[in-house]
Amino acid sequence: MTRPAWVSVDLDAVLHNYTVAKSMAPAQQAMAVVKANAYGHGAIAVAQKLEGQADAFAVACLEEAIELRQASIVKPILLLEGFFSADELDDIVAHDLWITVHSLAQIKPLAGLSLQKPLTVFLKMDSGMHRLGISPANYTQAYKQLQALDSVGPIVLMSHFSSADDASALTTEAQMSLFKSATQGLTAPVSLANSAAIFAHPQSRQQWQRPGIMLYGASPFNYPHKLADQTLRPAMTLFSEVIAVRELAAGEKVGYGGTWVCAQPTRMGTVALGYGDGYPRQAKNGTPVMVNGQRTALIGRVSMDLITVDLSGIDAGVGSRVEFWGKSLSANEVAACCDTIAYTLFTGLTQRVHRHLLNTS
Ligand SMILES: *Cc1c(COP(=O)(O)O)cnc(C)c1O
Repeated sequence: MTRPAWVSVDLDAVLHNYTVAKSMAPAQQAMAVVKANAYGHGAIAVAQKLEGQADAFAVACLEEAIELRQASIVKPILLLEGFFSADELDDIVAHDLWITVHSLAQIKPLAGLSLQKPLTVFLKMDSGMHRLGISPANYTQAYKQLQALDSVGPIVLMSHFSSADDASALTTEAQMSLFKSATQGLTAPVSLANSAAIFAHPQSRQQWQRPGIMLYGASPFNYPHKLADQTLRPAMTLFSEVIAVRELAAGEKVGYGGTWVCAQPTRMGTVALGYGDGYPRQAKNGTPVMVNGQRTALIGRVSMDLITVDLSGIDAGVGSRVEFWGKSLSANEVAACCDTIAYTLFTGLTQRVHRHLLNTS
């Protein structure tokens, strides 16, 4: 390894977090959401770790599903958006995938299929998020159309929440009640809950939960949530090292644009990590970083390969280990300083960062 930027992924933490999700509705099923390369953690490694325990997996597209099948994942895999084009149906059948149907247009191509094993379909309702899904008014009709097809087997009634992470919003209750009234008379399993709903909305815990971010150990809430904070274990920790140290006089400016001006004599460290690795350029002055186990702060603008940190009063020098988020610094706290969420920190890491998998088996 040449450049000291690396990320560790503790797969035991992912497994633990999956069991937390399961424990919230022990009699029900939970599909581990491993889209976007398992939120940047490595989809194959995560799926292989969870394969013995997980009831199913969920991904965003065919390519992500095939990658898992080719890595010997045999558990069910749901395509969260179903197919984008009917050409994908041959591969969907060949790889034994479950599909979401989110629009009436996706039903027609299913009618022409003759299959040995009928498809499992998650029929998605737009209960208020207004992104994907069949309208409540058309839902029963879509269900009946699917049910009448020989190519369609089990159907799961599905919807997604827009604001399950917002404790004050009544939106989730409204979505659930609309869903309930629009599915009246349909006897089928139900799938509603993402990570935030699993924690915050007990009534959303139906037959199939869909935990994503919680598997990776980040709380789905941007405020303290006792249960999430106490039970989840961060899986990803991002590291690098201090590669240069300098003493700056008061008035000296740091970095591109000179946006940081030293108010006093400052001992400054330059660290080998930047937005080219996925560390957000939006990170503000004062964003926390851990250097040699001590908490300090980013000063100056994030550049492509380097960031600059305040080492005044910190026991550290060239070669000191720097942690950006993970086991000893919450990704949510860092994300808040970058006007973003932990999801984008995790998925934003680039190829340049070496990945080290811990506890693969
Ligand atoms: C990504 C996704 C999830 C997981 O959401 P988290 O907030 O990460 O738990 C669940 N359901 C659908 C439809 C998704 O797209």
